[in-house]
Amino acid sequence: MLLLTGWTGTIRDLALRGSHQIYTLAVLFYIGMLVVISKVLGIGFDYYAFRLERRYHLSDQTLRAWLWDETKTLLLSFVLATIVVELVYWTIRFAPQSWWLIAWVIFLALFVLMAQIAPVVLFPIFYKFSPLNNDELKSRLVKLGERAGTPIRGVYEWKLSEKTKKANAALTGLGATRRIILADTLLENYSTDEIEAVLAHELGHHVHRHILKSIGVQAAVTFAGFWLASEVLQYAVDNARWFEGLSDFATLPLLILVFSALSVLLMPVLNAYSRFNERQADRYCFQSVRSVEPFVTAMNKLAAQNLAEKQPSKWVERLFHSHPSISNRVAAARAWTQQLKASAAPRSR
Ligand SMILES: [Zn+2]
Repeated sequence: MLLLTGWTGTIRDLALRGSHQIYTLAVLFYIGMLVVISKVLGIGFDYYAFRLERRYHLSDQTLRAWLWDETKTLLLSFVLATIVVELVYWTIRFAPQSWWLIAWVIFLALFVLMAQIAPVVLFPIFYKFSPLNNDELKSRLVKLGERAGTPIRGVYEWKLSEKTKKANAALTGLGATRRIILADTLLENYSTDEIEAVLAHELGHHVHRHILKSIGVQAAVTFAGFWLASEVLQYAVDNARWFEGLSDFATLPLLILVFSALSVLLMPVLNAYSRFNERQADRYCFQSVRSVEPFVTAMNKLAAQNLAEKQPSKWVERLFHSHPSISNRVAAARAWTQQLKASAAPRSR
């Protein structure tokens, strides 16, 4: 809309006037106004999501706590957007021909840095973490790690209950910050065997190097994105003459549009890749635990607790889901046991 109405030019002029024509400062003002506009347009949806979680008793977070989270998110997105956008327009001015390649390299370096510092810098802005305080689970984890031939650096309790009643677990970080995080909502309601199954799944992500591989995929996608953005920008400035020059930062909504369109187009492919990784982590879990039964009960508990759709329509799952549906994961576990039984049984003809 900003592009169609030409309001992006109005905002740019305001930013330039407010900053006394200082380019870098003007870019900062422009980003600030864009972030505020998006938030004003989006706050209704965010509030609806908050009310929805409360209505179905998935969360008892207070409005005040929610507003504080929203404020922190807004400030964080402003800071991160400023770093990325300032760098992009700096490279455009520095190297108008090959800016997209330089911007891509810088973006990738930032992305790796973010993946590394996220568990220790970004997540603690919203959640509390503490080292796992459960000796039984710890010793099971050490054994899982030994079998996998990889030591686990850390397992942390993730205080998710303040925000939601849903349970979750994840593998995060890179190198020294690599860790498994387990929600307190999971630790409280699941048996040791069930938590072990969840841990084994997360360990599967670690053993199969899924974080590194996902960064590789991100690298390929953003490479295409920056190249496409450069082509579109060139056209918009040189052929269509919609903007005053390449360094005109009123082009920002156009760049955002290119990246958004690309991620919508690639979403089914990226989700398929994610589901492939999840199935691999599940198989790793089946191999490492004594029985798949706790995995199955944990999955069913998760579905009930999170109000997840156990069996979504095939196309919804294909297009939008980053994880296989619960029914498919349970079926895979059952099939695994069947296969194991079949191969262990004496052959008869
Ligand atoms: Zn997973």
